[in-house]
Amino acid sequence: MELNTQSDWVARSLRSVWHPCTQMQHHETIPLIPVSRGKGAWLYDHEGRRYLDAISSWWVNLFGHANPRINAALKDQLDTLEHAMLAGFTHEPVIELSEKLSALTGHVLGHSFYASDGASAVEIALKMSFHSWRNDGHADKQEFVCLKGSYHGETIGALAVTDVALFKDAYGPLLRASQTVMSPDWRLAEETGSAEERAQAQARRAAADVERLFNERGDKIAAIIIEPLVQCATGMAMHDPLYLQLVRALCDKHDVHLILDEIAVGCGRTGTFFACEQAGVWPDFLCLSKGISGGYLPLSLVMTRDDIYQAFYSNDVTRGFLHSHSYTGNPLACRAALATLHIFEEDDVLNANKAKAARLTQALQPLAQHERVRNFRQRGMIWAFDAIDAPKDFSRNFFATATEHGLLMRPIGSTVYMMPPYILSDEEIDGLAANTLAVFNQVMAG
Ligand SMILES: *Cc1c(COP(=O)(O)O)cnc(C)c1O
Repeated sequence: MELNTQSDWVARSLRSVWHPCTQMQHHETIPLIPVSRGKGAWLYDHEGRRYLDAISSWWVNLFGHANPRINAALKDQLDTLEHAMLAGFTHEPVIELSEKLSALTGHVLGHSFYASDGASAVEIALKMSFHSWRNDGHADKQEFVCLKGSYHGETIGALAVTDVALFKDAYGPLLRASQTVMSPDWRLAEETGSAEERAQAQARRAAADVERLFNERGDKIAAIIIEPLVQCATGMAMHDPLYLQLVRALCDKHDVHLILDEIAVGCGRTGTFFACEQAGVWPDFLCLSKGISGGYLPLSLVMTRDDIYQAFYSNDVTRGFLHSHSYTGNPLACRAALATLHIFEEDDVLNANKAKAARLTQALQPLAQHERVRNFRQRGMIWAFDAIDAPKDFSRNFFATATEHGLLMRPIGSTVYMMPPYILSDEEIDGLAANTLAVFNQVMAG
């Protein structure tokens, strides 16, 4: 039997695997870590070192690696039905999942359309919005609006409503222009006053920018797409729920669809199951992915209202929504999602997370008060802070130093953040905070 060492795996991976979101040459100096297995919040390499997965493996893993309850559901599903096409056929996991999700919105968003990754869900929402206006006799509503700093995925359509230069600039000539409006990020507030007053002032100013645009060309706009409460990929930019209320009212007044991208912020991440619940509004389209399958399998979906569904319902085939993906509604992925939702119910997760969040916020106070830290912020199970005068290559050096401390963390620019799975023990919470402080001090010392 051939025995592979840690360095064999690294060499073989670098020869044949093109890694995502990576300048591959950086791996000449930054370690690539081959994972041999996962258990709970921890990933293990081939030399027995372990890493606390403080960012839920890119925000997907809610209840730990190798979760016994999700594993059992998947093993059962595997022996029953691994996949069947979803055109002309249907199956129990996709039906039950759609019913459960509909119930979670009080049946306002009662129709779920499935795909595999987040970017595809965004594409679906954009196409559905445009097509439903067209079916309703408003073919001139063709434009989309996104927020400054927005991130909605990296396929050509999703990138067109993304405003992160690093991901977008190289492909500019390929992208359809969209309108970009002011960010409601509370760090941009000019006012003085309490944190809440400043956040609400910025929410009002950003909503006024939406109103200006809608007044100007609302009749040309199909939809505005927003990542509610926390714009994650731009560096955990947080805003007040008031912003969502104001934009919802403007969308109603000007006949513009509201698309909420809850791919990262959904599934309890911000403290409620859906982030938009904190504003007391529902969108016309809601995109879910990432955590919905517990971090097990690729699954995404778009939930929408009955009036939009009805705009496609016809004896004319071309009025239908003919979009499809090979693995649409995959039974294994849907079953993983059902097991995930079951854990939310069985363990009263949203309540249990409040105590975990309070403990981590408390444990992070030395960082919140640190003289080289500003804008310490938290919502639900998301924490972030910005490094003051971060040294060159801060993010990459932080990642590498964190791995030496048994932590998986990847700052965005000079923003350090945590999005841990919802299963951390008190000991793991305290260890995460202490280790992050140690890593931060080491990296800031240069
Ligand atoms: C991750 C993400 C996407 C894209 O999802 P993929 O599965 O990576 O295509 C879209 N929107 C938001 C807000 C995300 O965080």
